[in-house]
Amino acid sequence: LVPMRLQRFLARAGVASRRGSEDLMTAGRVKVNGRIACELGTKVDPLVDLVEVDGVAVVLSRGKAYLMLNKPAGYLTTMRDPQGRPCVAELVPVDKYPGLFPVGRLDMDTTGLLLFTTDGDLGQDLLHPSKHVWKTYIALVDGDVRDEDLEPLRRGIELDDGPCQPARCRIVSRRLAAPVAYGNVPAHTGFVEVQIREGRKNQVKRMLGRVHHPVLRLHRCRFGDLDLGDLALGSWRELDEREVALLR
Ligand code: URA
Repeated sequence: LVPMRLQRFLARAGVASRRGSEDLMTAGRVKVNGRIACELGTKVDPLVDLVEVDGVAVVLSRGKAYLMLNKPAGYLTTMRDPQGRPCVAELVPVDKYPGLFPVGRLDMDTTGLLLFTTDGDLGQDLLHPSKHVWKTYIALVDGDVRDEDLEPLRRGIELDDGPCQPARCRIVSRRLAAPVAYGNVPAHTGFVEVQIREGRKNQVKRMLGRVHHPVLRLHRCRFGDLDLGDLALGSWRELDEREVALLR
């Protein structure tokens, strides 16, 4: 961004048209660095100068932000908790991206891929059931799990709040289940990958509970075509253009 005429700056920031912005300036309603700027030739540097209209600071929008977090356990999926518990807002750069919000929710004890954006329309779309984004989870479950135990989930299991759509699921190796296979893994447990398109409260835990394999740890490794990759637990990164395109 280079210095530009004040009326152009105001128009780009969405305050008014260029002509309308000139009217605001000549009316003495615009200040630059605390001084009234009524000269139409005034230039501003968007990175340095403080521009105000009627006393309210004006900033150029930097476009929309999209990022992913590898959520650790122990954080609520909310930007603010009235009870002061740790929440995911502490892990992402909210000052850098005003208006950032999480797309969907992971339980307090669930780890893994949580998408954030400032793009309200996209956030809504991705959560809409008709969008059918496949979400992929890896679970450490109690009990010696056999493939046929998962059959009811593939058919579509009935939960208290109604039937689930058919899920894709399979038993996976300890290596593939690395995000939940850390530390002390109790005997008589197994690793299961579950893919669902819905996002009901505690859905994966309730589904596996219904087939008598309660979830001990849960991790989301994919959201649609987005993959967490080797992003470290507790870290975030911006999506690249290709990844943003995958969401649309
Ligand atoms: N299903 C669950 O049970 N918990 C989550 O956090 C996500 C999906």
